[in-house]
Amino acid sequence: MSFVITFENAMMIYTIFIILLTALCYIFDKIQDHSRAWNLSKSELMKCQKCGKVYLLKRQEKSRRCPYCGQRAVSFRLPYSGIREKAKVKVREL
Ligand SMILES: [Zn+2]
Repeated sequence: MSFVITFENAMMIYTIFIILLTALCYIFDKIQDHSRAWNLSKSELMKCQKCGKVYLLKRQEKSRRCPYCGQRAVSFRLPYSGIREKAKVKVREL
């Protein structure tokens, strides 16, 4: 028995291959979607209660002491200007 690949068979194999490839890409993309975390940075802005300096506390840093004077620091909040709310609306629209 000889197996001859005709043009029709080749086109059928090619079509099945393209459909399978598309399905695999779709499944791979769905799996990737779950691993993508679109969180904002976990870093936090801190403001020293004594000297008033504002610095960035990276998420792996545990110390909440001011690096300049060693005093306790608290989370820094931007004064209200409405920019934060506008930014949240913009992010939701994305
Ligand atoms: Zn300080």
